[in-house]
Amino acid sequence: MSNKKLVQQVYESIDRSFFMDINKDLAYLDSAIPIGYGQTISQPSLVLYMTEQLDIHAHNKVLEIGTGTGYQTAFLASLAKEVYTVERIEALHLSTKERLNLLGFTNIHYYLFDGSYGLEEHQPYDRIMFTAAASSIPDYYIDQLAENGVLIIPVGNASHQDLLRVTKLSDGSINETSLEAVRFVPLVGEYEIT
Ligand code: SAH
Repeated sequence: MSNKKLVQQVYESIDRSFFMDINKDLAYLDSAIPIGYGQTISQPSLVLYMTEQLDIHAHNKVLEIGTGTGYQTAFLASLAKEVYTVERIEALHLSTKERLNLLGFTNIHYYLFDGSYGLEEHQPYDRIMFTAAASSIPDYYIDQLAENGVLIIPVGNASHQDLLRVTKLSDGSINETSLEAVRFVPLVGEYEIT
């Protein structure tokens, strides 16, 4: 089955309203919705697109920065072997862990800290997904990306961000493609947008 079809199948198996503690009545709109703590859950069409662009294979190890509600995490965990997800807000980290456990996921590893510097412990990662916008691509993540790995990240400033798809070639060099204009909440910390 094609990657696009697989991602679509995952989308159909995941109920977005289950991931929202507030604004549940808005769950089926294709728009970003506030989830509390100044954060948002992305629109389903963008989650689908970003997941497709990450091109996950069943044996992949994936790192996600910005667990939030876990909606994107559920896509990643349905397609990859292992998912490492990092969140800095404790309430979101705890409630999302409980929610994804209820759904039966056993391949997700949850971390509560500032994800500006990656997660050295389990590197290298085949795929890396950022769901918060940075001022530039954090170097730490290029180091932690496997050869032939793919990283998706919104980069820019508060008013304009480009969704970048970065691949690491076998000689260690980087290939960067701009996918589309997007608007995400900021990645807090060293790479915060202004
Ligand atoms: N993918 C999520 C949406 C996340 S919103 C979903 O589907 O619901 C972005 C998330 O990134 C927020 O939860 C925010 O707290 C988190 N975040 C922002 N900066 C961070 C950082 N430096 N380290 C870890 N998480 C961060």
